[in-house]
Amino acid sequence: MSSAPQFDVAIAGGGIVGAACALACARRGLRAALVERDALGSGATAAGMGHIVVMDDSEAQFALTRYSQNLWRELAATLPPSAEYEQRGTLWIAADREEMEAAEKKQKWYSERSVHSEILTAAQLATAEPNLAGGLAGALLISQDAVVYPPVVALELARRAQHLGAQIVLGRSIRRLGNGVIELDDGAEVAAARIVLALGAESAQLAPHLPVRKRKGHLVITDRYPGYVRHQLVELGYLKSAHSENGDSVAFNVQPRATGQILIGSSRQFGAEYPATDQHILAAMLARAAVYMPRIRELSAIRVWTGFRAATPDKLPLIGPDLNDPSLFLATGHEGLGITTSLATAELVADHLTGRTLAIDAAPYLPARYAQHPTPGEPRRQEDNHAMDWSHAGAHHGIQQ
Ligand SMILES: Cc1cc2nc3c(=O)[nH]c(=O)nc-3n(C[C@H](O)[C@H](O)[C@H](O)COP(=O)(O)OP(=O)(O)OC[C@H]3O[C@@H](n4cnc5c(N)ncnc54)[C@H](O)[C@@H]3O)c2cc1C
Repeated sequence: MSSAPQFDVAIAGGGIVGAACALACARRGLRAALVERDALGSGATAAGMGHIVVMDDSEAQFALTRYSQNLWRELAATLPPSAEYEQRGTLWIAADREEMEAAEKKQKWYSERSVHSEILTAAQLATAEPNLAGGLAGALLISQDAVVYPPVVALELARRAQHLGAQIVLGRSIRRLGNGVIELDDGAEVAAARIVLALGAESAQLAPHLPVRKRKGHLVITDRYPGYVRHQLVELGYLKSAHSENGDSVAFNVQPRATGQILIGSSRQFGAEYPATDQHILAAMLARAAVYMPRIRELSAIRVWTGFRAATPDKLPLIGPDLNDPSLFLATGHEGLGITTSLATAELVADHLTGRTLAIDAAPYLPARYAQHPTPGEPRRQEDNHAMDWSHAGAHHGIQQ
């Protein structure tokens, strides 16, 4: 006869998503364990930009990013200075009249959803960011967007979870997971009523049925130039490149750090699953940055790195019960928004596991959208997702308080 599991929930992966899940579960009184093979926050969480951004790609993406941004604002008040949380605002830059029209449409969309935004004329943009190129058409300012240093936050969330009794297992690689067990590389087992899979871009290594692909990104960080960039600056064309299905893409996306350094991004690639820098991508990314900020070439870059986003076919994360294994709960597939959406993901996971009412409609993120579709990896239509009732999906496995 098998003995009762040691834990109510065991979380696989100690990135920002896993760490946030550990804390949210521990706060609800669950006996939680968090397993990470390396250092906490050392995966995509350390490689990401830390832009906390409300997005308008779809209502589902908006709901999750908006919910999470509010949670970030609450958390920020309690974070140590080393987390470098700063409400810098995002400037979505319009290069020409056509992009300015897109900015105006975006502004209307945001204001209909009570997100404060402002159109900046060309002259206002030049005053706000004097190092931008001349001749740009203007910008849309979303002032509530913020930036943060993600690995410090991951560590902080895990420490808080530990303080509430969660067990943190570090330096142990997970060999297998499922059926209520995480098997470690030394053969030891962590048994739990529910396993939360938060393995980011490595998710499909341990759960090959998941439609999660690695999407590589490059970032460059400069020496210290305080005040050189004041907001997170993103070209409006970024959205086109982020959505391009297969081709490699680069876009102007720069971020001021609290240290005075500047993060320069960004790139997206499928099929490049090695960590080495791709010189042609790096060159294209820096050339794109110089189009928008010509004198950026004069700054000293001190480090370049790559990281892997966990991409799903419909660009929404997988949050909810796995289709095959009732003990497994997914918290993965956050692509380029996992820092932003980590906190909301964790609340949804913990509320679901404790049978509480969810703060937003979580149906669009359910893994069930990939069930019984003729083409593997293609989601069912969004309308079908909305018809699903989250509260029943796997509810009999929920841990009631
Ligand atoms: C270049 C770049 C820029 C980005 N910019 C932003 C941004 O500005 N804003 C934003 O919101 N998001 C951004 N992202 C996305 C964001 O970084 C990720 O979505 C987020 O970090 C995902 O967190 P995670 O915890 O799911 O994954 P990870 O941080 O990758 O955590 C997964 C963890 O699982 C561990 N693991 C894997 N396999 C095993 C195993 N077998 N055993 C034990 N442990 C294992 C890994 O070591 C890792 O620590 C960016 C990503 C990249 C690459």
